[in-house]
Amino acid sequence: MSELRELYQQVILDHNKSPRNFRKIEDATADTEGFNPLCGDHIHLYLSMDGDRIDDVAFEGSGCAISKASASLMTSLLKGKTTEEADTLFDQFHGLLTTDVDPDLESLGKLAVFAGVREFPTRVKCATLAWHTLKAALAGQDNPVTTE
Ligand code: ZN
Repeated sequence: MSELRELYQQVILDHNKSPRNFRKIEDATADTEGFNPLCGDHIHLYLSMDGDRIDDVAFEGSGCAISKASASLMTSLLKGKTTEEADTLFDQFHGLLTTDVDPDLESLGKLAVFAGVREFPTRVKCATLAWHTLKAALAGQDNPVTTE
């Protein structure tokens, strides 16, 4: 398990150092900001929808390694997904972080790197910030999301 942990940590550090999709989408069809006051994380998420499908997704912002890596991994997984598929991923990710149920690691893919975060309740908000912001953006909500 410790080897796995180390691997997970490396993935998080890598995405923190060079976050994927870290940019603004100029012609975004939706954009929403999210705040986690407890840690000081801030994300501005941009979506470009093609009907019901996520054509492009990107983010800007600042925060701790976990919040940034989570946004980075989330955006790299979402491209080409439908709103419904994004919802399913949200539920799986949320389940991984908040319940004791054995996660479906296969469908979670790289998101499984956040499994260890479950042991640190205050960090769960860092990891889920991007996802709550995504949900709001998909629902067309443009007032900021906060974890508090
Ligand atoms: Zn944080």
